[in-house]
Amino acid sequence: MVMGSLRQRTETVVIGGGPGGYVAALRAADLGREVVLVEEREAVGGVCLLEGCIPSKTLIHAVEVFHTAEDARQMGLTFSDLAIDADALRSFKQSVLDKLAQGTAGLLKSRGVEVVKGRARFDGASSLALEGSDVAGIEFQNAIVATGSRVAQIPLTKDLPVWTSREALELPTVPETLLVVGGGYIGMELGLVYAGLGSRVTLVELLPTLLTGADQDLVRVVARTAKRRFEELLTDTRVTAVERRAGRFLVTMEKDGDPKTVEVDQVLVAVGRVPNTDEIGLDKAGVSVGDDGLLPVDAQCRTNVPHILAIGDVTPGPMLAHKASRQGKVAAEAISGHPAAFDNRSVPAVVFTDPELAWTGLTEEEAKRDGRQVTVGRFPLSALGRARTMGRTDGMAKVIADPESELLLGVGLVGPHASELIAEASLAIEMGATLEDLAATIHPHPTLSEAVMEAAEVAAGSAVHISVSKSKT
Ligand code: FAD
Repeated sequence: MVMGSLRQRTETVVIGGGPGGYVAALRAADLGREVVLVEEREAVGGVCLLEGCIPSKTLIHAVEVFHTAEDARQMGLTFSDLAIDADALRSFKQSVLDKLAQGTAGLLKSRGVEVVKGRARFDGASSLALEGSDVAGIEFQNAIVATGSRVAQIPLTKDLPVWTSREALELPTVPETLLVVGGGYIGMELGLVYAGLGSRVTLVELLPTLLTGADQDLVRVVARTAKRRFEELLTDTRVTAVERRAGRFLVTMEKDGDPKTVEVDQVLVAVGRVPNTDEIGLDKAGVSVGDDGLLPVDAQCRTNVPHILAIGDVTPGPMLAHKASRQGKVAAEAISGHPAAFDNRSVPAVVFTDPELAWTGLTEEEAKRDGRQVTVGRFPLSALGRARTMGRTDGMAKVIADPESELLLGVGLVGPHASELIAEASLAIEMGATLEDLAATIHPHPTLSEAVMEAAEVAAGSAVHISVSKSKT
């Protein structure tokens, strides 16, 4: 353990250089704060850049291009030697990460943020001790905790060389057979990546449905592709034992009381993430930690100790990079005396499967669970000109509104470019748009964006391209 001897003082310290922490540091510096950012890794960018969003989307894009080229056969396009070179792809992915990490480091430097390498731990309400650093400790007026999250382990695979998302994204090899434990977004995205790279993939999910939390109308569309691409897709199935045998893995699982064993070359465990709040001395600073390990915060992202704020994966809500970044801006503005609040009506979520699935605001399941009546409008991509021109008609747009006021409450999309199209819906919800606002906004033709307008027309009962009456649930 390396310990420096120097103690520093600063106005604001940010702990963690992920999309929460580095954005908070930049915004605070722009608002005139003196900022030190402590990061234990060699590079800034956090899980999102180094082992999450960016490497996964690079691999997903490569596989998507491959499938697009294959699907183009229906349009008369043929490619004779279509293949994925895993080594070249790995290098490309690494170059993407390196460039973005350098760019982020450059932004911090140009704004005068001092980046200190080391592992921080509170040793009081206004001081940190650093390990593995040239700096022994930092005294601060304000601290922003942005230490993020780490992969959740399962006892069954303890001490076995199974992959987590981190190893899978390094692309060490393309196993002939891969078993993915977990049908959440990370398991589904990475399962489809490896299936696209040539692995025979079995995906096992404990719950009856995939992608819990997403609208099941939309999930069904993704499940159709996954069933085609995966060797097997098992829901309601519990993995009961994992053993290592002759360099392979013997995995036993149980569905409806029936045991079944499969032998695979690799196992990828993707069962969730836990916040990094247990080893950073929060008790020494007097910061309350919830039973779930998350840090309760107010609208300004302040913990119960008002000069210690928390953002990103360590706070309640979805563990997503854009939520972390928005909170980072709010926290920086709050400590700078600005009237900022994390009061967003919706945090969009995207699953980068094929097709992509995205939603924002209320889902139909949530409305039902809360006993809330809603108006729902669905528009299938099969009725949309642009989807036809692309040969991509498997998907839909779904709009959820209040039946009385017709205020837009939620939008779900499944289909190509859903990840890009969902931003319009988020803006509409933030702006308090009604079905009429969406339906009367001219959307360019022929584009996929028309699906959102068409779904709003269905919900408002004014659809012309399909004959349906609006449904109330
Ligand atoms: P992190 O990004 O986790 O950053 C925390 C940083 O703090 C790390 O760099 C860590 O080294 C550092 N740190 C921790 N403890 C200390 C300490 N004591 N001292 C100093 N430094 C410390 N989100 C999306 O929005 N879209 C996606 O497509 C997406 N895809 C994902 C795919 C995968 C495979 C994974 C794993 C995650 C994905 N996520 C995605 C989630 C996203 O990565 C996280 O929500 C986001 O990174 C959280 O940001 P953060 O700033 O809170 O923390």
